Amino acid sequence: MEDTIFTKIVRREIPADIVYEDAETLAFLDVKPVAPGHTLVIPKKPVRNIFDVDDKTLAAVMRTVRKIAPAVRDAVGAHGVHINSNHEAAAGQIVFHLHFHIIPRHDRNEFSFWEQKETASRDAALLAEKIRQTIG
Ligand code: 5GP
Repeated sequence: MEDTIFTKIVRREIPADIVYEDAETLAFLDVKPVAPGHTLVIPKKPVRNIFDVDDKTLAAVMRTVRKIAPAVRDAVGAHGVHINSNHEAAAGQIVFHLHFHIIPRHDRNEFSFWEQKETASRDAALLAEKIRQTIG
């Protein structure tokens, strides 16, 4: 995998406001936060996204997400967090190194990430069946 800006942060080649580090993961503030305290959690190992990450690396990242989320919430006096992650450009991934966004949320009306739509139950049942059949 090619170097990304996040590999450079792991190697301390560019600066970041690091909030946590262990052998496998790193957490640092997003340079363009959706809300103050917006933190990114990444594996040190360069994996692109959910489509190529191994179970051990993902488990390490999620352990760090769980560890950091309450600290992010409490540090800014928020009441909840979004744990968001984009995988591939079509979904808004810009940095192709797996990362989870932890975004503090003070109340429900601050902003909206996406619109949801009603769906016919038959359409949902067909889609659920297709996904079940496609699980590797
Ligand atoms: P994505 O759209 O790939 O899920 O989000 C990438 C995130 O990385 C964006 O929220 C962006 O602001 C953040 N980001 C991009 N470059 C840098 C950087 O050099 N330093 C830090 N701390 N965050 C970055």
